[in-house]
This record gives sequence, structure tokens and C-alpha cells, in this order.
Amino acid sequence: MKQVLVTGGAGFIGSHLCARLLEEGNDVICLDNYFTGSKANVIPLLRNPHFELIRHDVSKPFVAEVDEIYNLACPASPVYYQIDPIQTVKTSVLGAVNMLGLAKRLDAKILQASTSEVYGDPKIHPQPEKYWGNVNPIGPRSCYDEGKRCAETLFMDYHRQNKVRVKIVRVFNTYGPHMGTNDGRVVSNFIIQALQDKDLTIYGDGNQTRSFQYVDDLIEGMVRMMNTPDDFTGPVNIGNPGEFSINELARIVIRLTNSSSRIVYRPLPGDDPKQRRPDITLARERLGGWEPTICLEEGLKKTIAYFRSL
Ligand code: NAD
Ligand code: UDP
Repeated sequence: MKQVLVTGGAGFIGSHLCARLLEEGNDVICLDNYFTGSKANVIPLLRNPHFELIRHDVSKPFVAEVDEIYNLACPASPVYYQIDPIQTVKTSVLGAVNMLGLAKRLDAKILQASTSEVYGDPKIHPQPEKYWGNVNPIGPRSCYDEGKRCAETLFMDYHRQNKVRVKIVRVFNTYGPHMGTNDGRVVSNFIIQALQDKDLTIYGDGNQTRSFQYVDDLIEGMVRMMNTPDDFTGPVNIGNPGEFSINELARIVIRLTNSSSRIVYRPLPGDDPKQRRPDITLARERLGGWEPTICLEEGLKKTIAYFRSL
């Protein structure tokens, strides 16, 4: 049995990861400050004696005896990471320093949940890992993008300087059950608006694209990445290459929910990337043939069922 620490474990992705790691027979410590996550996401796991929940802010040092660390703590919704941008940087950068220091002391393996945002508003499409990105260092999204980029730098420096066994995954837009109802990201916003027959709010002209991945596919990719040989650090893209405009997404959600909602257009937030699609060649090669298995409509149906049940 492995002892596994999941930071941000009470969040959307973290709660699915904790459940999966418990299913595999691990002892799981979930660490979270509940900024965007919630205890409700992990309440069913509390019945499991191998699960432990701790309130803690990753920007402060933390000590526990573990074999593996998944570092997910960080708000992921643009609405939330911009509420307190300084804390967002601290969470990404000091959180990485603290967790890497712990991994170094324990000789533990550590995986960083990085993001497609490291590519910024990409000029290369689709985005392969070797692309260095097009990121504004001083804009409204920079606290998140640059925080995550600096965290990647720290991961690779701890690896080169201190031989820490690191893994970096670059996660592309992921959705599914346990997204917060007020989270502000496009999939949860549209589903909640459609279920309430309210207007779907498209920012800008809706021609910007994203590639949406269902959470189960991501969890499979992350766990496979943690189990790759020590000489494979990544970064590796984990996402679904199916690319949709926000207009298309709105129409699909309205159809799948049988909603009478209309679509309205609102101003585009600053620095909103125009396009995003992962090149997943490396993931296919290095993660045992991993690929997404759940298409957008199937994943949306499961997510709609979840939000209906709330
Ligand atoms: P989320 O907001 O639901 O989860 C983040 C969790 O981290 C929450 O439970 C939050 O309370 C916790 N947290 C935030 N700051 C913290 C701190 N200082 N100390 C301890 N806990 C803290 O978001 P998510 O979608 O589950 O994202 C999880 C991770 O995956 C994040 O690191 C995010 O950057 C990354 N990611 C997500 C996506 C996506 O599309 N969902 C895409 C790229 C990267
Ligand atoms: N978006 C939108 N309506 C919403 C929420 C988001 O049109 O109610 C747009 C947003 O401007 C962006 C895309 O949908 O172009 C994806 O936004 P999200 O916040 O989900 O993720 P990110 O921009 O970080 O990829």
C-alpha cells in the first residue's frame, strides 16, 4: 500500500483522483484550504479508513510521510484565480516549493497538474509540448499562467539539481461532475443556465475554441503518468483533441438539456485565448497508448445528469 498526498484534493479533479487512488488500495491524504473545493466532494470518501482530510494552505509548509504527491492545489477557474491574484501566484509558486521540498526530503515521486495555459494565446496549433507558448506576463490571467509556468521551472530545477523524481502533466480544459456550481467555467455555466432556462452567456463572438476533456480520461492519464519510469518527467499534454467553438458548445448543451434558453453575447474578458487543442502524440507514446475515450456529447450527458441531481 502506498501513502499518497493529493493537494487540492477536495476540488473538482482532486476529488475524482482521491476516489481513484483509494479504489487502487492506496492510503490517501487529501489536503485543501477549500478556496474553490468543498468537503461535499469528498464526503463519501470519509467512510473509507484509508482516507484522511486535512485543511491546509499549500503556500505554507506541510509535512507528512508519503510515497507520492499529486500537486493540484490552485484555483482553476479564471473567475476565482483573479479574485486574489497574489494568492494565486503564492499558491502555485510557494505551493510548488513546499511540495518539492517535501518530495526531496522523503524521496517521494511528485506530479504537477500544470495547464494548457502555459501556451497562453497560442500561435502554433495544435499545441505540442515543445512549443514555448505566447503568454502575457502582466495581464489579468498572468497570475495563473505565469504561476504555473514558474511551478514547471521549479519542478525541472528540483529534478536537475536535487534528483527529485518529477512528473509534469499539462491539463487541457476538463469538465465533469463535482465542478462547483458557481465555478464560472464555460461548461458548468452553460449547463446550469440551460437547466434553468436562463440565457447562455457567450463571451466575445463565440468563435474562440477549446478542446474539452471528460474528467475520467484525465484521471487515467495522470495515474499512468505517475507510474512511468523515473527518467520520464514530461511535460506531457493530457487533453481531448476534439476542438469546439464556444458557439458550438452552447448549441450542444441547449440540445442535450432540451432547454428553451437563448444565447446572449457578453464582452470578452482580457487575454482570452482564441484557440486551444492538444497534440497528444507524446501521451499516446509514453502513457501506454492512453487516449481519451469519452466524446464531448457523452461526457456532457454525464455532467448534465450530475447537475440535475443537485
Ligand atoms: P478546483 O478549483 O476545483 O480545485 C482546486 C482545489 O485546490 C480546490 O479544492 C481548492 O480549494 C484548492 N486550493 C486552492 N488554493 C489552495 C491552497 N493555497 N492550498 C490548498 N488548497 C488550495 O479546480 P480543478 O479544475 O479541480 O483543478 C485542479 C488542478 O488542475 C489545478 O491545479 C488546475 O490548475 C489544474 N488544471 C485544471 C484544468 C481544468 O480544466 N479543470 C485545466 C488545467 C489545469
Ligand atoms: N466563456 C463563455 N461563457 C461563460 C464562461 C466562459 O463564453 O459563461 C468562454 C471564455 O471566455 C473562454 C471559454 O469560454 O473563451 C472557456 O472558458 P473557461 O473559463 O471555461 O476556461 P479557459 O478560458 O480557462 O480555457
